Amino acid sequence: MTNAPGGSGGPVAPGQPIAPGQIDTVMHESRLFPPPAEFAAKARIGSMAAYRAMYDEAKADPAAFWGKLAGELHWFEPYKDVLRWKEPFAEWFAGGKTNASYNCLDAHANTPRWNKTALIWEGEPGDERRLTYAELHREVCKFANVLKNLGVGQGDVVSIYMPMTPELAIAMLACARIGAVHSVIFAGFSAEAIADRNHDASAKLQITADGSWRRGKQLPLKDTVDEALAKSPTVRKCVVLKRTGANVNMTAGRDYWWHELMDNASPDCPATPLDSETPLYILYTSGSTGKPKGIKHTTAGYNLYVKKTFEWVFDHRDEDIFWCTADIGWVTGHSYVVYGPLSAGATVLMYEGAPNFPDESRFWQLIEKYRVTIFYTAPTAIRAFIKWGDHHVDKHDLSSLRLLGTVGEGINPEAWMWYHRKIGREKCPIVDTWWQTETGGIMMTPLPGAIPTKPGSCTKPLPGILPAIVTPSGREVPQGQGGWLVMTHPWPGMLRGIWGDDARFKEQYWSKVPGKYLAGDNARCDADGYYWIMGRIDDVLNVSGHRLSTIEIESALVSHPAVAEAAAVGRPDEIKGDAVAVFVVLKQGEPGDALKKELQNHVRHEIGALAVPDDVRFTGALPKTRSGKIMRRLLKDIASGKAETGDTTTLEDFSVLAKLRGDEE
Ligand code: ATP
Ligand code: MG
Repeated sequence: MTNAPGGSGGPVAPGQPIAPGQIDTVMHESRLFPPPAEFAAKARIGSMAAYRAMYDEAKADPAAFWGKLAGELHWFEPYKDVLRWKEPFAEWFAGGKTNASYNCLDAHANTPRWNKTALIWEGEPGDERRLTYAELHREVCKFANVLKNLGVGQGDVVSIYMPMTPELAIAMLACARIGAVHSVIFAGFSAEAIADRNHDASAKLQITADGSWRRGKQLPLKDTVDEALAKSPTVRKCVVLKRTGANVNMTAGRDYWWHELMDNASPDCPATPLDSETPLYILYTSGSTGKPKGIKHTTAGYNLYVKKTFEWVFDHRDEDIFWCTADIGWVTGHSYVVYGPLSAGATVLMYEGAPNFPDESRFWQLIEKYRVTIFYTAPTAIRAFIKWGDHHVDKHDLSSLRLLGTVGEGINPEAWMWYHRKIGREKCPIVDTWWQTETGGIMMTPLPGAIPTKPGSCTKPLPGILPAIVTPSGREVPQGQGGWLVMTHPWPGMLRGIWGDDARFKEQYWSKVPGKYLAGDNARCDADGYYWIMGRIDDVLNVSGHRLSTIEIESALVSHPAVAEAAAVGRPDEIKGDAVAVFVVLKQGEPGDALKKELQNHVRHEIGALAVPDDVRFTGALPKTRSGKIMRRLLKDIASGKAETGDTTTLEDFSVLAKLRGDEE
């Protein structure tokens, strides 16, 4: 990063306020990494020209484009229309019948993939299992019969609170097979959070495990579920997987052991032909910005979207070993551990435990052991790897890797560079994928054989995705300026609603900019048509009439050698509107006034005087969601000395918040 002004909008000039809804950019990132020639030569989409041709074709007639691809799913009955659109309600492939479990499993029967490994699984203690597509199919059929025997039918909601085990995927695919709707709840949430979600979704059945392994300790999942079920009157039955062997209470007439039910289950369970718009799952968002929303996804459009985006973005080949480190409890796990890769016939690595158990080299050890070729992880993990030190990486042979990816937050350019050099050995393209629980699958990202990357940019929209950057009145902002990111046309993976709350669905996504899907993020598009996500709409800093993005200030801080991660928020200030407050986690150096001054000077030098932090707070950790995203809204309250009022149910570690409060000056 240099201190040159960025974007065609130019630097922020004093005394030149910009329109509300627009955000100015102060960052300039000029490094460009073309796809390696060797990679491009073999890629599915191997040149910018090929990408453009696909993109233009899709833009000219999205329905024809998706209709052509829909032939890759199995149809029990053909659909009548590709898209029926009555804003904000979409029906994709209406009139058709398909089944996501069929597309992930049965579709590979009578192909060489049937006996190929579908899942490679490693538990935290080091236990290992492999399931071929044929074996996975058998398990899913049996468990689908278990569900039926317990009275679960089409449209019933099944709540799943399980460790990262093959049985979690089996449970989901079994639901999909019979038209039941799964609601997976990340297995780190509290009993209260489970009960809330069970209530919101009117869940009928619970699936869990006795426990799971995390950093060498057992998490008592069943005990937590017992507490949740006491407050979940709609849930009548509970299936319990034996994972750790912990002692658990089994309530007679309610609780059943997974293995006992499976012993007696028939492996014969044909997939039910389901209408395209049959709900597939409910998934609650991370809660970075407030109370989580129960996002609803349906069958055909979602299934097609995750299959195609998986194949395009990860340039999937049959010999790949694909590892997405996300827990299945998040949308990334739904779309790129389960439905996308399995529809595409991929081999997926699944790991149960923590990245720092037994030590901080566990991920690199797994890559070496299983010869992982594609590695997809989150910026929060990358920042942790950097902090833990290169020596953990250096011990392992990562030469099997050919492609890297990131998801979940923006990645600071310096963290991108580390990932590129250290993990990618300057040979692997990096796909920075922007998307949301709501979008179902990846929306903007570099296609690795086609689109040159710029550190910190998610580059360009995928074919069929039509973004724009607008002001609150819906006017497009001038190129280079930041504004609200919207989608101007429906896409197959889009959410179909918020479970049981159409009013909130309309209000949240479709009312603020009429006729367009409002993502809730700010972005800008540079002169090359590259998109840069600038943070959440609610997190913009309003400094002396200039609207600044969180990520640009944070990236400037992270480019200082002492800084591991940083969060920037606005603190109300009588004169400036917002003063800039930053929270900094160090990887080296001593917290204190000298370093504070140094960081202020560093920001001044990197991006200019306007963004210089007024407050610099050193902290051991930042408050994050359980999915690892920085919760800036809580930091904003702390910076302004407010007693925090927002929803904290998704906070990962309450002690971080307490410490930050105690630290207050
Ligand atoms: P909530 O909606 O409850 O506040 P959340 O938005 O954190 O939670 P998710 O759907 O898991 O829930 O996250 C999507 C958001 O994550 C995006 O809107 C964006 O802010 C951020 N994000 C995801 N990927 C990227 C990326 N590659 N670059 C920048 N931001 C990203
Ligand atoms: Mg969100």
